[in-house]
Amino acid sequence: MNLTNDEKIERINKWQTSNLVHPLTCPCCKGTDHTKLIPTKIRISSYESLDPELFLVCPKCDYIQKDIPETVYLIDVDAIQKSFRRIFSKLFM
Ligand SMILES: [Zn+2]
Repeated sequence: MNLTNDEKIERINKWQTSNLVHPLTCPCCKGTDHTKLIPTKIRISSYESLDPELFLVCPKCDYIQKDIPETVYLIDVDAIQKSFRRIFSKLFM
């Protein structure tokens, strides 16, 4: 999928705030309160011409995750939420 970093951040933020899916949480802060990871652009190369890379960062500890599951970009949580609303409104009419 050819998404820009900003498009990816938008989708990750939707995923992280949706009630329908399990948010991406910090494996280090596990057992406490499952801290949600925050998509963050980090410039790891000193070449100014290269775009910063996208990582998931824990706001509580120093955990940084490079792997972002493709599912987050493929599943449109907004569309699922809308179709759930349609189904429920039919059920309770
Ligand atoms: Zn953490």
